[in-house]
Amino acid sequence: MKIDRLKDSGYPAGRLMIIGLDCAEPSLVFDRFRHLLPNLEKLSGSGYCGPLRSTDPPLTIPAWTSMFSGQDPGRLGLYGIRNRTGYNYSDLMISASGTVHVPRIWDYVSRRNEPSILVGIPQTYPIRPVNGCVVAGMLAPGTHSRFTHPPALKLEIESVAGGYEIDIPNFRQVSPEELAERIWTMTRKRFRVFRHLIKTREWRLAICVEIGLDRLHHAFWHYWDTNHPLHFPGNRFQSFMPDYYSLLDREIAGVLQSTPEDTAVFVVSDHGAQPMMGGVRINQWLMNRGYLTLRLQPPPESDLQMDWIDWDRTLAWGEGGYYGRVFLNVKEREPRGIIPRSDAERICSELAREFENMTGPDGNLLKNRVIIPRLHYRQIRGYPPDLMVYFGNLAWRSLGEIGVPDIFTRQNNRGPDGANHAQYGVLISNLPLKPENDSGGFQITDLMSVFCEILNIRLPNDAFPEPAGNGNGQD
Ligand SMILES: [Zn+2]
Repeated sequence: MKIDRLKDSGYPAGRLMIIGLDCAEPSLVFDRFRHLLPNLEKLSGSGYCGPLRSTDPPLTIPAWTSMFSGQDPGRLGLYGIRNRTGYNYSDLMISASGTVHVPRIWDYVSRRNEPSILVGIPQTYPIRPVNGCVVAGMLAPGTHSRFTHPPALKLEIESVAGGYEIDIPNFRQVSPEELAERIWTMTRKRFRVFRHLIKTREWRLAICVEIGLDRLHHAFWHYWDTNHPLHFPGNRFQSFMPDYYSLLDREIAGVLQSTPEDTAVFVVSDHGAQPMMGGVRINQWLMNRGYLTLRLQPPPESDLQMDWIDWDRTLAWGEGGYYGRVFLNVKEREPRGIIPRSDAERICSELAREFENMTGPDGNLLKNRVIIPRLHYRQIRGYPPDLMVYFGNLAWRSLGEIGVPDIFTRQNNRGPDGANHAQYGVLISNLPLKPENDSGGFQITDLMSVFCEILNIRLPNDAFPEPAGNGNGQD
């Protein structure tokens, strides 16, 4: 990586600030809403701005952890917010900070006894102490929990913010009136806390991730996007999305006013967003095609329960979420597996082909993208799905529910939802970054080495180990 200005200006004397806007979408930031974002434009004036390719899958977890560690989801063993913990039939488990087994950028800074300020970063709860201060991000259970380091910081930030909010739990169940108010307030409080910390603490690294934009996209995209199938003209939230982007720009300007001159600043997102066209009932589809068999008649519109499945006649089952995960029922791997190991690869390929040939409600090809983790990642840790399916390249969500004859629905079964994730996020910096590969731009895992260069951190030689063989171990 070559960062000319760093060398010219005598770095590494400086500091690094990273402002994360979860879900910031490049087509809005660089085009549709560009006129609303003068401060972001100024920041990148003689620096860099462009799309940032997210992880596969492009989800909050693992994407932020990939950015801050340089490791891809295969090496992290994290394939979404929820992951398998073994080859059994238990529910997937939420992946909190304890599931991150690699150092992240602030761990290296801490080892040098230099202080960091970390606010709102996913997978920082339960809190692990660092040199500096931490305010945990998404997945922390609420402000009643021990969500700060040091613990006494909690009272200070609650006082500065007038009551702090980590996230908005169950935001899809909150009325749009209430949700709009809460997202706005939460964001203002987060930035107030971040400004307070950068002004009152020593720091070498400061990171703030705001989750509000992700919540906004899911809940309000269709109110703004006149081409969205759920849009209705004249609604009262038509301008909420652009107004909120404008708020973010002003809040960032406030942070930059309090930031020393010698700071390398990055504004980044973990993935983008796109209008959601609807949901695909993945288990209903698997049942219709004979891959999945139940031993009872399920109640209508219910989530598939593992003990309803007739494992002796089931080859595969799926999970809902931003993308479809499919698990094969493999002999001597799953407790009651029926696919001989020697057949697993063939069945996986057949299923991939069937997903790729899936047509949508209008009879046209849905253009699904199928990823086979075993082939996609250089190394696999943990327990990945056997197939990952991006329905309509993520324009459609995966729904785990059964007991409904229709494969397709316009609604997310978790509540109204106007957007799904998209593969590219944003990368803006006051430094004139140059991707190593002229043709491709930056990948999210490229940034760790840029951050390390700025902070003059030499990663150990084994920080990005090359896997032995194809690397399909389950360590
Ligand atoms: Zn996200």
